[in-house]
Amino acid sequence: MGHYNNFKTVVYIPAEVAQKLTAEKLASDWAWIEKYIGLDKVYLETHRNNIDVPAEHLRMIRDFLESKGVIVSGGITTTINDFDGAEGGKQRLFGTFCYTDPAMRARLKEISEYTAGLFDEIILDDFYFTNCTCERCIREKGNRDWVTFRRELMKDVSENLVVGPAKAVNPKVRMIIKYPNWRESYHFTGYVPEVQRDIFDATYTGTETRSPQYTDQHLPEYLSYSLVRYMENAWPGRNGGGWFDTYACWSIDRYLEQAYLTAFAQAKELMHFQWSDLIENPMLSAMALQLGKIDKLMDGIGKACGVPVYIPFASSGENHLEMRFGMLGLPMEPTPFFPEGAASMLLTESSLADEDIVEKLEQYVREGGNAVVTTGFFRGAEEKLRAAGLTEARLSGRSIPVTRYQVTGDFAGFIEHRKTMFFPEIVHGNNDSWSLLNGGDGDTHSALVLRRAYGKGRLYIAAILDGDSGLYEMPKAAVDVIKRILTGGEYVSGRNVSAFTYDSGRILLYRYVKADLRPEKVTLYTERKKAVLVDDLTGMKYPSHEVRRWEDFRPSGGSSAEVLLQPGKFTKVHWETEE
Ligand SMILES: [Zn+2]
Repeated sequence: MGHYNNFKTVVYIPAEVAQKLTAEKLASDWAWIEKYIGLDKVYLETHRNNIDVPAEHLRMIRDFLESKGVIVSGGITTTINDFDGAEGGKQRLFGTFCYTDPAMRARLKEISEYTAGLFDEIILDDFYFTNCTCERCIREKGNRDWVTFRRELMKDVSENLVVGPAKAVNPKVRMIIKYPNWRESYHFTGYVPEVQRDIFDATYTGTETRSPQYTDQHLPEYLSYSLVRYMENAWPGRNGGGWFDTYACWSIDRYLEQAYLTAFAQAKELMHFQWSDLIENPMLSAMALQLGKIDKLMDGIGKACGVPVYIPFASSGENHLEMRFGMLGLPMEPTPFFPEGAASMLLTESSLADEDIVEKLEQYVREGGNAVVTTGFFRGAEEKLRAAGLTEARLSGRSIPVTRYQVTGDFAGFIEHRKTMFFPEIVHGNNDSWSLLNGGDGDTHSALVLRRAYGKGRLYIAAILDGDSGLYEMPKAAVDVIKRILTGGEYVSGRNVSAFTYDSGRILLYRYVKADLRPEKVTLYTERKKAVLVDDLTGMKYPSHEVRRWEDFRPSGGSSAEVLLQPGKFTKVHWETEE
C-alpha cells in the first residue's frame, strides 16, 4: 500500500521540530515531502532533552498525517537536561541519562508511559546508552568492570523502565530500539543487542555513514549495507529499517548512497532523518528520482547473501575491516553467530571475542570449510591454533616492507615498484604451508596469504597491512587472491566498487562517487565455463572471455567479463551458462 514495493519511506519528527509545527506548516511540509519521496510513515517524537511535546499537539500532528494515509508511530530520544530532583554535575555525553539516579530513572519511566499512551509503536533514537561515571555509578558498579555493569544496568532499564512500563500502559505497543552506527563500541556504553533482543520487539539500524574522512566515526560507506545485514542476522526478521541523514554529506551522491545501500541490504523502512532538514532541500529532489530506480532494481531480486564474517556480539578489533573488503568488491555478510555450514568464512580480530573460537574453527576446517583468518585474529590465537594442529606458522613480531607482489599459483609474474607498505611478517614451514601471495622488497619476500590444509578443509592466514587505507592501494590482483578463496571463484576485481549479491544470482554493482572520481572498468570472474554476463537492465550480453589459470600446479579457469562502471550509476547483471 506504500509508495514503493520494496521499502517504506519514513521520516522522523524530533521533539523540537514537532513542538514548532503549526497546522499550516505541517500541511505545507507534508505536501513537499509527499511530492518528492512519497511519505508512507512518520515517527513522531514525544521527548528529547528538556522538551516534552504536549499530547494535544502530538494528536493534531498525528490526526493530520493519518488523514493523508500516513502511518504514525512514536519516538523517544533518551536525553535529558539537569532538572530539580536529579543529581547535577555529571559528565553525561549529549545529555544521556545517568541510569542509577533515582529521579532520572523515574523520569524515563514516565516518558515511556506517556508515549505508550499515545502510540502503538515506539522507536528509541540512538542515545539510549550511558557513559556516566558519576560517584553513584562508580559505587553501584562495585567490583564489576564497566562493560559488565552497564550490560546488567541496561537490561534492567530496558525491562523495568522502558518496555515493561510501556506495555503496562498499552499492551499492543511494539517497542523498537535503534542501534547506532558504532557497533564496535556498543558494549562499552551499555548497548546490548544480545540481551535486548529478548526484551524489544524489533531493531533499527543507523546507516548514516556521512563523510568517511571528516566525521567523528570515520565509517566506510559500505557500513550502510553491512550493518543492516548484521542486524538482520542478529534479530532475524525483526530488523525494522535503516536510518540515515543529511549531515556531513558534502555531495548529494554521498547522501543518496546511504539510501541505496540501506535498500540493497533489504531494510524494510528507509528512515529519512529528519523532517525539517528535508524541506526545500535539493537532496530530497534527487532522492525522489532515485528511490523509484532502486525500488525497481530490488524487484524480485531474492535474498541478500555474501561471504560470512563472524563478528560476535560485544566484540571489537580490526574494526570496519570487513567493510573495507566490501569497498573492494567483496560482498560481505557479517553475523554475530558462528556461520557453521558456510563454504567459507572470514575471521578478524573481532572474532576472538568468542572464547571457543579455536575449537569451532578446528571443527569447521576439519569438516571441509575454508577459513581465512587475518593477522589480527592470528595474533590473538596463535598459540591455541598451533596447539590445535591447525598451523605451524608464527608471527615474527616484525613488519616487512612490500613493494613487490607475486601471485604464486598463477605464474602471473610479479607486480613491482609499488608504493612501500608494511605488513606483519608470517614465518612458516615451507611446504607444510603454501604461500599463495608473496610480498617483498629487494632480495627477500614473505607470505602475505598462506594456505594450510587440515582435514578436509583449509586454513588461510591473510596478512593485513599497517593502516587500513593501504588496502585500497594494493594491486587488484593481490586482493583478488583473498576474494577468490572466499567466494569460490565468483568475484569482482575492482576498488571503490561494491558488489551486492543475491540468492537469485543477481549482482548489483555500484561505483562510489569519491576521490578517484572517474569511470572504472571492473572484471567479473566465475568458475563456470563458457558463461556469459548479461545486463539485467538492458538485456545486453557483455563480451565474455575464457579464463585459464594455474592452481595447485593444475590448469583451472572459467569465464570473465569486463564492465565499465560510471560513478553513481547502478549496474545489475547475472551470469548465464550457454549450452
Ligand atoms: Zn551516574
